[in-house]
Amino acid sequence: MREHLAVLRALGADAHPVRRLEELSAVEGLVLPGGESSVIDKLARAFGLFDPIRAAIADGMPMYGTCAGLILLADRIDGAITGQRTFGGIDARVARNAFGSQTASFETDLDVPALGEPPVHAAFIRAPAVVEWGPDAVPLASLSDGRVVAIEQGALLGTAFHPESTGETRFHDRFLSRVHSRRGISAPAL
Ligand code: GLN
Repeated sequence: MREHLAVLRALGADAHPVRRLEELSAVEGLVLPGGESSVIDKLARAFGLFDPIRAAIADGMPMYGTCAGLILLADRIDGAITGQRTFGGIDARVARNAFGSQTASFETDLDVPALGEPPVHAAFIRAPAVVEWGPDAVPLASLSDGRVVAIEQGALLGTAFHPESTGETRFHDRFLSRVHSRRGISAPAL
């Protein structure tokens, strides 16, 4: 979370951690960090944030999820623990821990045509992968085996990797531009 805040602030955003409902009500966009998606799901419910985040997604609030955050934005997941839910919003099926325990972490250079040159240096940590997606979801990057690792749908963006830990700022910039363009069509939350 600290790394996301640092990237967003370096890009000029007034970024704050969101752990409570009042904090969610005060922001115009939300980054869902990595971690353990089942734990984030449980915490969101325990802190009364689950339904408000779903409502914010339905209302068009821009969100960017990395790794566990991508899992939380997917409508369907493979490898969920019993009772695990997602906020949803991206019409996709995401497999948790898609690279297995033998390959818990790796880094690679990814072509992301929507971001142009240079390729994205991506760090994958117990990462998920998008294994199926619907017509409204747009894949932005895939591995050589065809599995999608960056995807967006409307104001929602998700990456299976962690750009915030490799000095890559273009995904955060893309998220912020969604926030800025929405500000023009709706009342600012602040
Ligand atoms: N494996 C984690 C999960 O399933 C995600 C890992 C991460 O966010 N780095 O939630």
